[in-house]
Amino acid sequence: MKRREFIIKSAQGGVALTLGTTLLSCLDTDKKTITMKNVSPISICTWGFIDANATAGKALDGGMTALDAAIKGVAVEEENLKNTTVGKGGAPDREGNVTLDACVMDSSGDCGAVVCVENITNVAALARVVMEETPHVMLAGKGAEELAYKKGFKAEKLLTDSSENAYREWLKTSEYKPIINIENHDTIGMLCMDGNGDIAGACTTSGLSYKMKGRVGDSPIIGSGLFIDNEIGGAAATGMGEEIMKTVGSFLIVELMRQGKSPQEACEEAVQRIVAKNNNIENFQVAYIALNKKGETGSFCIHPGFAMMEYKNGINNRIESKAVLKS
Ligand code: ASP
Repeated sequence: MKRREFIIKSAQGGVALTLGTTLLSCLDTDKKTITMKNVSPISICTWGFIDANATAGKALDGGMTALDAAIKGVAVEEENLKNTTVGKGGAPDREGNVTLDACVMDSSGDCGAVVCVENITNVAALARVVMEETPHVMLAGKGAEELAYKKGFKAEKLLTDSSENAYREWLKTSEYKPIINIENHDTIGMLCMDGNGDIAGACTTSGLSYKMKGRVGDSPIIGSGLFIDNEIGGAAATGMGEEIMKTVGSFLIVELMRQGKSPQEACEEAVQRIVAKNNNIENFQVAYIALNKKGETGSFCIHPGFAMMEYKNGINNRIESKAVLKS
């Protein structure tokens, strides 16, 4: 059901949200395939998420659309219990509750997001439901969770025993200090170009570990954690969300590419804008990845230790990102 139909049905008494589907059409991503236009598909993602990126890359090689592939790719990390800042197994907030944020953006320029969602693992897929099946772009908290149940998503306990143990350990000092690399920043932002040359992306996270209740970072904010313009390219972010939001980083990168910068140059300039405004960059990480319409990619970060995965021509490479600071 598309937005327009939703509006009509809602006006008729809210029928649209009570259809009670048991099948998650949003996760049933293998159903759409495209006729390849001789474009070699590409998938890139933040951090060294080999399996997530390979999942998306192979799906693209098989003819999947960019949006389907990005959601399928990031779902690998949403379901990975060892990843403590994405999906199930994510670190909780200061009160011990795991709250997730995600967004998706399609090659049409359409987008959807969910923030502060509890008990749902595949929040990127839920962001897609918001995009495709409601008249809105963003839903928060209980509203997003209720939509998920109506669309057949399962309620799941997101706090694992090991995340809970780490949280209890943290409670002993309750020290809140920003963290630098993969130990705590492993949000997955993924950009895919399909066989038609169309670009889409997804970004999903549990946000900063032990964040204040209700805190939302850049990851679900269109233009900050993710931005796509199918005529130009796309960008995604990870790291200290507050800094990324202040400079609307992913949108900035796409606009810099529009002005003629390569993905690498655009990522570097976006990081430098943050560096120029802060005298404490040793205390936080920001990293960007970008992909343009020609299939060129780039990444840049503040602290060494960030890597981007890149799947092209059937090969999944880990690319260490250049950084502002030296190790
Ligand atoms: N950008 C995320 C946030 O601020 C955190 C991260 O990338 O680890 O919520």
